[in-house]
Amino acid sequence: MTDKLESLNPATGDVVGVYAIDDAASVDAAVARARHTASWWARGTFAERAHVLDQWKGVLTRRMAQLADVVHQETGKPHGDAMLEIGLAIEHLSWAAHHAEKVLGRRRVSSGLLLANNAASVEYLPLGVIGVIGPWNYPVFTPMGSIAYALAAGNAVVYKPSELTTGVGVWLADSLSEVLPGQALLQTVVGYGETGAALCRADVDKLAFTGSTATGKKVMATCAENLTPVLIEAGGKDALLVDEDADVVAAADAAAWGAFSNAGQTCIGVERVYVHDRVHDRFVAELTRRAREVHAGDDLQAHFGPMTLPSQVDVVRRHIDDALTRGGTAAVGGPDAVGDRFIQPTVLTDVPEDSSAITEETFGPTVTVNRVRDMDEAVELANATSYGLGSTVFSKKHGAELARRLRSGMTAVNAVISFAGIPSLPFGGVGDSGFGRIHGPDGLKEFTYAKAVARQRMKPLLALTTFERDTKTDASFAAIITALHGRANQFSKRPLNLRGAR
Ligand code: NAD
Repeated sequence: MTDKLESLNPATGDVVGVYAIDDAASVDAAVARARHTASWWARGTFAERAHVLDQWKGVLTRRMAQLADVVHQETGKPHGDAMLEIGLAIEHLSWAAHHAEKVLGRRRVSSGLLLANNAASVEYLPLGVIGVIGPWNYPVFTPMGSIAYALAAGNAVVYKPSELTTGVGVWLADSLSEVLPGQALLQTVVGYGETGAALCRADVDKLAFTGSTATGKKVMATCAENLTPVLIEAGGKDALLVDEDADVVAAADAAAWGAFSNAGQTCIGVERVYVHDRVHDRFVAELTRRAREVHAGDDLQAHFGPMTLPSQVDVVRRHIDDALTRGGTAAVGGPDAVGDRFIQPTVLTDVPEDSSAITEETFGPTVTVNRVRDMDEAVELANATSYGLGSTVFSKKHGAELARRLRSGMTAVNAVISFAGIPSLPFGGVGDSGFGRIHGPDGLKEFTYAKAVARQRMKPLLALTTFERDTKTDASFAAIITALHGRANQFSKRPLNLRGAR
């Protein structure tokens, strides 16, 4: 095995960085350093931690353009798109730093009638050291969803970036150590899957993984060896629904951005569209016009860049071929749109639901558009996937109702991907898209454990947990429980109200 990793520019194949690979011993050493820092960091107050994270935020903000250059070189995405993901990551860092105390801080809770002699409180304490494994498609925004929230919750982090975006990972850790020299609050370990597996086996208190579903399963299996808890943010096959009363122009605009931006290499990208019969043709006309106006390239006018992961080109080609072989139509693009490094926008219509373009994550600048007779059919088809990450609904009257019926962790109504930019909203999926949440209050709690304390303030009226408990106490206890809970009538004639269920 080589002990060096070369990071390449996917648009040109040029080497943009060479890094020494961390083996298991070196990962263990990083985790040991992090453990030392974690106990110091956990002793700090929320305000002290927010102060440090604010300083880091300042560095990130002032050097946004420099970081965007590294992102551009390693992923090939346009500089403006790199700035966008960095800006959103900064928003999240700020939110996490300033909301940690409110979400995680100690608070009193009711102790209930039976144990009214107690004072009860709960707080959320840091787990210690968090291992983070990230993907390459949003090499700042995505890992920062774990890193920023884990740090704000009082943990230290050891981060293994994707082998395709090592330079971005190293840049992030270096920028924090400028604010906090000599402390191992955020360290980057470098390497391929083996380094990631070493991090799973190391002495971390939780492993936050973002990447493909297949790798997520391996990460979970490795972490199971030490009962290390995991957070899995995996792939998706997000659908966009267009209702008959939708703003069709806005929906087409959103579909184009959701499907083609970042060359479709977006976990919450739009991969499938289901359009109401009444507006289908108008929608397809609007979408195809937009698809013809955008192009992939490394010129300054390009709307999106190359396929960052070269092997993904074959996956996209296979999905397009399968859709067309099974009777679908390429309204824009098709097999000729697939080049060596760049793939031009492709819109596939009337694609059979069992085609791989519908059933598997494509992760390329393609989108399927199928006609539905009503929104019930749209919901049924959208939900007929093992994934459940994000979704989008365009509807004037029924947006919120349709959103609830979609089996996905997040839904944008009358806009696309909007939930990702709202720091107070949790981000994550169900099914093959994983479990656990980054962002928002749930994202802070994800990196903590709940600490419950019941403090006895006075002797109980009924002493229940003693061998000196007598039959009189038992009778009083039974009488209290009956008085509290015995009135619910099991023969109640009141019908169940399941109006909302369909
Ligand atoms: P990937 O699964 O190939 O790799 C992800 C990371 O896991 C990399 O750092 C890789 O080195 C590491 N890894 C590989 N094998 C490992 C092993 N055996 N043990 C531990 N770590 C290992 O994914 P990718 O190609 O980098 O990213 C694309 C995927 O990520 C897509 O499926 C996309 O949908 C998903 N993604 C999900 C989200 C989300 O929030 N749900 C966000 C971005 C990307």
